[in-house]
Amino acid sequence: MSAEIIRGRPVADRILEQTRVDVATLRERGHSVRLVSIEVDENPAVAVYTRNQRRSCEQVGIDFQGEWLPAETTEDELVEILRGHNEDAAVTGIIIQRPLPEHINELRIQAKIHPDKDVEGMNPANLGMMLYGRPNLVPCTALAAIELLASTELDIAGRDAVVVGHSSIVGKPVAFLLLDRFATTTVCHIATQNLRAKTRAADIIIVAVGRPKLISADMIKPGAAVIDIGINRVPAVDDHGQPIHDENGRPKMRIVGDVDYEAAREIAGFITPVPGGVGPVTVAMLMRNTYVAAVGQAQVMSRR
Ligand code: NAD
Repeated sequence: MSAEIIRGRPVADRILEQTRVDVATLRERGHSVRLVSIEVDENPAVAVYTRNQRRSCEQVGIDFQGEWLPAETTEDELVEILRGHNEDAAVTGIIIQRPLPEHINELRIQAKIHPDKDVEGMNPANLGMMLYGRPNLVPCTALAAIELLASTELDIAGRDAVVVGHSSIVGKPVAFLLLDRFATTTVCHIATQNLRAKTRAADIIIVAVGRPKLISADMIKPGAAVIDIGINRVPAVDDHGQPIHDENGRPKMRIVGDVDYEAAREIAGFITPVPGGVGPVTVAMLMRNTYVAAVGQAQVMSRR
């Protein structure tokens, strides 16, 4: 049996189109929808993410305000900048690009973004609402994983789900979203014993670790749905397994997930590719969250 491939692009396009329509309606009512992106120091990988986010904002009609700060920016200076954006009614969403320089405490910064403008869903207040089963703004990658799973029309309730990875930004939020949908959810991590036994028993496997081929085909129950969140850069090889070099003799790299995709697709019932699976939907969910944040603030203003 060969798995049905869950491609991210059509799912992302559907979310972006709905968001474009909704943003236009909100604007017609005179409300601002603006995302401020703050980048501290230079990082080529971050620059790629920011460019994607700017492009998606343009696509759906959200104002994108990119701000770049030098590496020596202090934590207090950044907090002060956030305070300004929190108080500015025209700014409806704020995203801090990671990684931040080591001298800046990420947790403290995340907590300084107003919960209503926290489009990444990383403010403790927003993460707390997930625990209560009343999510408001939710981390985008976790939402993307669930959106892709839902696109299979698989009944999640009552299924056995395994989440591999327990980070605050991906693994734990995914686990809460699965619990809210009544999946019996097991969370695995670096200290988990006999990971294979856990994943083999699961109807749904969601992996967010950052280790190529962590999930091999023999760790998957035939017919299971596999959502691969991992992003890993590995050397590209030719049909004989030999490394491929570019014109300057440097090894060419390619992006893979955490699942041994080619082998796993012969066993799984549904599987997301990497790239082209969770990635595009994550950016779409950021746009959706930015809209949801703007609506929330518009409602607060109209109640005044
Ligand atoms: P993290 O480093 O914060 O967490 C990694 C998790 O994997 C931890 O829970 C750790 O215990 C677990 N782990 C490590 N080795 C393991 C092993 N051998 N077996 C089982 N569990 C193990 O990472 P993160 O920020 O959650 O990101 C995870 C992956 O997802 C990375 O590859 C990252 O690039 C990717 N990611 C993708 C997107 C996207 O939009 N597609 C977004 C965020 C992160």
